[in-house]
Amino acid sequence: MKKLLAIGGGKSGLAALELGCNMNFKCFLYDDFPEKMNRETDEFLNTFNVELLKKNELKEMDFDTVVVSPGVPHNHKLVKSFIGKGMDVVSEIEFGFRFLKGRVIGITGSNGKTTTTAITGHIMETVTCGNYGYPFCKALLEQGFDGWYVVELSSFQLELIRDFCPDIACILNLSPDHLDRYGSTEDYYLAKFNIFKNMNKNQHFFANANDIETLNYRSYFPSFTEWIGENTKPFSVNEKGIFYERRLIVDPFDLKIRGLHNLYNAAFAIAMAYSAGVDIKKSVEKLKSFKPIEHRLEFVDVLNGVYFYNDSKATNFDSVKKALSSFENIRWIAGGIYKGGDFTDFFSFKKRIKKAYFIGESAPLFYENLKEFMECEISTEIDNAVRHAFREAEKGDVILLSPACSSFDQFASYEDRGRVFKSIVSRLKDEFR
Ligand code: ADP
Repeated sequence: MKKLLAIGGGKSGLAALELGCNMNFKCFLYDDFPEKMNRETDEFLNTFNVELLKKNELKEMDFDTVVVSPGVPHNHKLVKSFIGKGMDVVSEIEFGFRFLKGRVIGITGSNGKTTTTAITGHIMETVTCGNYGYPFCKALLEQGFDGWYVVELSSFQLELIRDFCPDIACILNLSPDHLDRYGSTEDYYLAKFNIFKNMNKNQHFFANANDIETLNYRSYFPSFTEWIGENTKPFSVNEKGIFYERRLIVDPFDLKIRGLHNLYNAAFAIAMAYSAGVDIKKSVEKLKSFKPIEHRLEFVDVLNGVYFYNDSKATNFDSVKKALSSFENIRWIAGGIYKGGDFTDFFSFKKRIKKAYFIGESAPLFYENLKEFMECEISTEIDNAVRHAFREAEKGDVILLSPACSSFDQFASYEDRGRVFKSIVSRLKDEFR
């Protein structure tokens, strides 16, 4: 019997093990923090007869395949030692791919992955999985290995790829992120470039012709790259909409999603669906009914003519710039744990921002860097920020939570932060009724 080890007992590690058990592997799990595993994991291990191993037990063992969870860096000592021994060390995506009978659309980029995955799945009426919160291996087991899989891929999931080869794929954009994990921006981009490592000209690979970093790294891109941008063919995008052979096919006013960045996401989705054989007209009709996903420029409510938008997922400067480009008369709520980013990025938005309200650990840092360029205050708590902003707002203003930071100083997650924001808005609504 072949032996499979998963390193990391999170969602994707367990999904790989479940698939492994189904494929008749003898399965093992190792986790650096076994004490953190919950009852559900215990039950899983019992149900599937997976053996939990200790570090010292691993040394003498050989495995046919080792699946490394995305949360485990590939310079982890253990991973390095298995690679050193010449073992088959792969990501959960690579492992799943070996059993796929259907086809894959792979979506990566620094921002917009989840949104584009959701749009593509919506217009193609097919499975969305991967980094999307539904591991690829689990999706394969539940959806029957056949048909189209729209797979959201993070750089972590693309690190340990060997034969993985999507039929259709894209890199939406590139901007520095995750420098805590990668030694350099280039290393982070190189992980993303694994998406096209095994592709050839009979497949379809799309990239963004107007993204600065993509253009900076253009020489790494394959010759068969199909470009989407302002002046590209057959698909192109600008503020006025999405075009096919210069003919308008999507009018932004017909959509529920906002902003030029979302038109790009939609253009990539339509182009990829088209490559998969979906008629453009049908895609466009489906696109019209697509609603923004929670925490991504999500419209919350309008109170006394003041609009509230929840963009809690905007944890880096680039995604916040897209949000700030999407509105005028903005009362901007930002801050949390600063992950890096250049504050001069925000100077050009000063005309759109009426006032900024900074929260969390980095509130003083934001205030010091931006106070000369925009009216702002340190509100510290999100409740204060929303209430001050609403008190000072005039009809037509947009109160936008787009934090540019991670959330863990004050919240359990970005989802928690977004929900707290929405609950404050809903309380305000009750108070003003
Ligand atoms: P990801 O899955 O790559 O993190 P999401 O779709 O979850 O991307 O969106 C994350 C944040 O980035 C949100 O604030 C969203 O409004 C913003 N965003 C979405 N699409 C883009 C894009 N194409 N370029 C820049 N920012 C984007």
